[in-house]
Amino acid sequence: MSEMDRRAILAAPVFGKVFTDHMITLRWDAEQGWHDGRLEAFQDIALPPSASVFHYGQEIFEGMKAYRQPGGSIALFRPERNAARFNASARRLAMPELPVETFVRAVELLVQQERHWVPGGDGTSLYLRPFMIATEPTLGFTLPSRSYLFGVIACPASAYFSTRTGPPALTVWLSEEYARAAPGGTGAAKAGGNYAAAFLAQREAVEQGCDQVVWLDAVEHTWVEEMGGMNLCFVQQSTDGGSPTLMTPELTGTLLPGVTRDSLLQLAGRLGLGRSEGRINVQQWRKQCEAGVITEVFACGTAAVIAPVGHVRGANDEWTIGDGRPGPVTLRLRDELLGIQYGRIPDDLGWTRIVC
Ligand SMILES: *Cc1c(COP(=O)(O)O)cnc(C)c1O
Repeated sequence: MSEMDRRAILAAPVFGKVFTDHMITLRWDAEQGWHDGRLEAFQDIALPPSASVFHYGQEIFEGMKAYRQPGGSIALFRPERNAARFNASARRLAMPELPVETFVRAVELLVQQERHWVPGGDGTSLYLRPFMIATEPTLGFTLPSRSYLFGVIACPASAYFSTRTGPPALTVWLSEEYARAAPGGTGAAKAGGNYAAAFLAQREAVEQGCDQVVWLDAVEHTWVEEMGGMNLCFVQQSTDGGSPTLMTPELTGTLLPGVTRDSLLQLAGRLGLGRSEGRINVQQWRKQCEAGVITEVFACGTAAVIAPVGHVRGANDEWTIGDGRPGPVTLRLRDELLGIQYGRIPDDLGWTRIVC
């Protein structure tokens, strides 16, 4: 791609549509383990139609970003957390683990190669998508595939929300019929199949005039778990005039353990907020909003960072959180996290890793 074409794309990247010039691939089989690692041109992957990923859905992925720093260098954010989670996902899907150093090295190599693809504008980044698929050409399903392909691809990403107006507050739909993840299932793994099972509810949310679906637990259909592909956080005021608490649903095994979620919990502590990992059901959510206990709710994840939630809608219920607009705690946490990721405030937690 010409320099001019790339500049045009970088000026206004559309998420997930245009990819950089290169990709990483690495193969695994039972005899050789991980082998044949390549940094090569971005290209189609040729597989026999019998490859087991097409039939039994053994696929996992990660989502992470490279951020342009003030001096022009480029940083990753806690990449070893993504590597560790990738391996947790691999174990659940009976796929081979990848050494953490290999995962991080692969991502670093691609970022270094594609450094001209990392945009520099406010809130922009290079989005990185590591993934693994089962490639054994067999319809047999008594044992997991005996060969796999790991890859990393990258695409420039604009600020998820306008940097001038900041994030808008979303309206969310309570999915009381469909569930994302059941106890004993794959909810804690970042597996493509979880997304495949979610599209129907997401479409329902859009049909109901909402932006995103909120997932409830699969057993009682009342305990709040996540929003779309993001974790949820609740700002609860203390009754004795102390500082508010950042509450997020505990990791029960049906929730995805977000790196953003973990980072915000740590930042909340440093900002003097209370922190809790607990349980909240739909009724409590509504009642606590009405009582002024819950004043803000937001979703968090790598792609959108923090997405404030303003309104909640279900089949029989509808309410507003606070005044329906992004609240001060939400915006303060967002500033803090973005400040660290973009190198605007010192990172004394050792979260950023300069790669070039
Ligand atoms: C990826 C993902 C998240 C957010 O994880 P981050 O590491 O913060 O990006 C939350 N929920 C689901 C279902 C996800 O797939």
